[in-house]
Amino acid sequence: MFEVIRLGHRRQRLEKLATVLSKRGYAVQVQDSAESIREAVLALVNPGDKVGLGGSVTIRELGLPEAIRAKGYEAADHWIPGITPEQIATTVRRHPTSDCFVTSSNAVTMDGQLVNIDGTGNRVVSMVYGPKRVVAVVGSQKIADNLDEAMERIRRVACPLNSLRRGGANPCAKAGRCVDCADNASMCMVTTIIAHKPPTIDFHVILTPLELGF
Ligand code: SF4
Repeated sequence: MFEVIRLGHRRQRLEKLATVLSKRGYAVQVQDSAESIREAVLALVNPGDKVGLGGSVTIRELGLPEAIRAKGYEAADHWIPGITPEQIATTVRRHPTSDCFVTSSNAVTMDGQLVNIDGTGNRVVSMVYGPKRVVAVVGSQKIADNLDEAMERIRRVACPLNSLRRGGANPCAKAGRCVDCADNASMCMVTTIIAHKPPTIDFHVILTPLELGF
């Protein structure tokens, strides 16, 4: 019973954000379940598309790599277990030339800005220019009131959890938040704020009251 209230409140906020993002040029959906999100993403992939899969816990939690491959689509996925560093480098170079790039966003502000921090740059560049279509799935915990709150969320939650996912070598994994390490092994080489739908991309945002990813 209480979960219904919680999800209803989140959905109300997401509907407001969907209106704002639509005004900024995005095609927006609000989907309530993992199954409906998977269906919505697959409906945006065309037969023969080269699909790029961003470094995103959200899309792995949804089982999207498996669902996309099960459809017979070619998928550039650098998170396949056992992949070599050389294969990773080759795979991420294919992301900006995808027909459809599937990812999440580290945070989205209530005034419609997509905020991302990236270690290599393949994910953030592919959200700005290159792919014909981008699909970003965003869980409700990533919605922030403003840019300050978005950056704080990324530094306090997304970064330490992503460092732990990668083995915990970065100082934020121990500190529990970003400590501005400026290290050569930092995960935070590039920060982007997308203020409006990039003009050359057919950009879809799927919002969900579920909590997905970091
Ligand atoms: S700058 Fe360094 S400490 Fe901060 S989140 Fe990135 S890797 Fe972690």
